Amino acid sequence: ESTTFAVRVAPLGSHGQVLVLAEDQTESRRVEAVRRDFVANVSHELKTPVGALSLLAETIQDAADDPEAVTRFAGRMQHEAARLTYLVQDLITLSRIQGADPIPTPDAVAVDDVVHEAIDRCNTKASAKNITLVAGGREGLRTWGDEDLLVTALHNLIDNAVAYSPEHTRVVVSVRPVGDSVEVSVSDQGIGIPEFAQERIFERFFRVDTARSRATGGTGLGLAIVKHVAAAHSGEVTVWSKEGSGSTFTLRLPAFGGTAGLPASTTTPM
Ligand code: ADP
Repeated sequence: ESTTFAVRVAPLGSHGQVLVLAEDQTESRRVEAVRRDFVANVSHELKTPVGALSLLAETIQDAADDPEAVTRFAGRMQHEAARLTYLVQDLITLSRIQGADPIPTPDAVAVDDVVHEAIDRCNTKASAKNITLVAGGREGLRTWGDEDLLVTALHNLIDNAVAYSPEHTRVVVSVRPVGDSVEVSVSDQGIGIPEFAQERIFERFFRVDTARSRATGGTGLGLAIVKHVAAAHSGEVTVWSKEGSGSTFTLRLPAFGGTAGLPASTTTPM
């Protein structure tokens, strides 16, 4: 990698002194390159469903006298339109949190509410695969921030756990106090993530297996959103995974009002 400096020279006073300013532009060039890559990726991700939609519309016109085909293609159009909707929603969420760092109006948030709301949103998808969602750990903990964003982040983790797990497995969401923090972990018995990819999965649009992720309806933005939500809450998200046996994602958040004197933990059937 090369380093770029912008050098400016300005006269200073009347004795021939000059001021020399050297500004390291490596970082701003890197930021600019990342931004350009992102726009290129977004364009590509938008083009795919839009292309499929126009192709399907043409196909429907040609198949006008075959009602069964019309129904089938219309269904696929709905599927592509839904993908576009998810992508646009995720892009909006991502730009909202990238711009609002830290959270403008933080509130005390009950972690139990976040867990239950996130699980509720995943129930339909989980039951379709006969996956059991289990919540456990310490009750009554609170964190500090934006409840909607925290639900979105945890929903993304549970949604992935379900998407990348085989049928008849279980996903466990567990809460525990650790020092001045609250940790919410999501463990699955799914396909796992190869070691080389474990750092990269939090990048926008990085996928271990593009075809598989698209087939499961993924936008490739879920974990980037989780990472930014964690950062906006002065927290972090980490991953432990073993290929073939499963993954655990842990969201660490600041505890609000301390973690002492709370009810004893409930059991996690595991
Ligand atoms: P996607 O929409 O593709 O799921 P994410 O940002 O949520 O995008 O995740 C990025 C990639 O990380 C996924 O494409 C997948 O390869 C991998 N991944 C995320 N969560 C899991 C998990 N629980 N088990 C296995 N792989 C996962």
